[in-house]
Amino acid sequence: MKIHEYQARQLLADAGVPVPNGQMVQSVDDAVSAAIQLFEAGATLLVVKAQVHAGGRGKAGFVKLVKSVEEAREAAQFMLSNRMVSVQTGAEGLEVNRLLVADGVDIDKEYYLALTVDRARNTNTLIASSEGGVEIEAVAESNPDAIHKVPLDPIRGLEAYQARELAFKLGFVGKQINQVVGIMLKLAKLFLNTDASLVEINPLIVTPSTEEHPDGQVLAIDAKFNFDDNALFRHKNISSLFDPSEENPAELRATEHGLSYVALDGNIGCLVNGAGLAMSTMDIIKLHGGEPANFLDVGGSASEEAVTEAFNIILSDDRVQGVLVNIFGGIMQCDKIARAIVSAAKTVGFKVPLVVRLEGTNVADARSILEEAKGDIPTMQTATDLGDAAQKVCAAVAVPA
Ligand code: GDP
Ligand code: MG
Repeated sequence: MKIHEYQARQLLADAGVPVPNGQMVQSVDDAVSAAIQLFEAGATLLVVKAQVHAGGRGKAGFVKLVKSVEEAREAAQFMLSNRMVSVQTGAEGLEVNRLLVADGVDIDKEYYLALTVDRARNTNTLIASSEGGVEIEAVAESNPDAIHKVPLDPIRGLEAYQARELAFKLGFVGKQINQVVGIMLKLAKLFLNTDASLVEINPLIVTPSTEEHPDGQVLAIDAKFNFDDNALFRHKNISSLFDPSEENPAELRATEHGLSYVALDGNIGCLVNGAGLAMSTMDIIKLHGGEPANFLDVGGSASEEAVTEAFNIILSDDRVQGVLVNIFGGIMQCDKIARAIVSAAKTVGFKVPLVVRLEGTNVADARSILEEAKGDIPTMQTATDLGDAAQKVCAAVAVPA
């Protein structure tokens, strides 16, 4: 599960990591009120930031520094009325419903700091770079030596000496050292305590030297968290941060019915049981020149209602020009799938070609159910095996050139 930056900032602040003050707003008027409050509290610079589950906002024009209430209004107006297209969103972009209006800060230097699971080493790993900011992927590509990785001990976690060593490598000096070490240790604890799979601060910044802070201050001004969905049941405070409006509506609908749905770019909808079968189904569709539009995994024990809903989800996507059902019934009974096909044919109707390949438990019953329903589902063909099924569905849809 992902959360918004403003929520991530709150988690950081609660853990004692310094972040600038700010408020989440959902309208231009509220953005203006927030800006007035922050200016009255002494700010001279604010930042207005789109809150969406994607990065690359700065370059897309959805992070704006403003020096007056009027500029804040303009920025909010722009962000709430335009879709944000960034390198991370795809061409259709994302609708922006929430903004963060926060104190802006002067920046002397930007760093990158993150924790994630390093699957190659089987450890949690702290990742940091003094080349932080908006182009960390490019740094990883062109100058991998500028990215430091520190593996965490599975029992002791991040140790203070590791954090100090890293702080020196990154070039922090003077009073910055203790600040950044504190941030690293708190971040590592937060990562573990919340069952996060990623926490990322990019940029972590140092402010310019002032009389009060001659070595500057180390602050987090952007934050991203991903959490392990399988651990959310023990973090009610985090699962309550879920924002359904940021999710693909079809995927959400599937989750509500205990199904896993993954949207893809092609035009052949796939209803399968089991992730492995889903992978091989997609491979064989591609082998025959087709492109999967999605895969919907009904798992082993979905009810007939859930499977009917699965068809409804697949058929409600107007990019779907054909449907391939590939079920290997072990725990799942083939007759349940057959009945769901009949019921989906009644409720939504198969206007597009449907190719069905069923094998396994109760397959004879399933075949006779489909045989009987043939007249009601004129676009249906049955297939003898997976290769035959893929060939038939690819032939039946207009395979894109
Ligand atoms: P992202 O592009 O989605 O990662 O959004 P960020 O929050 O990281 O902002 C992008 C860039 O905008 C940062 O790397 C900074 O260079 C700049 N930026 C963001 N907030 C501030 C701020 O308060 N002051 C200044 N001077 N720059 C900022
Ligand atoms: Mg950033």
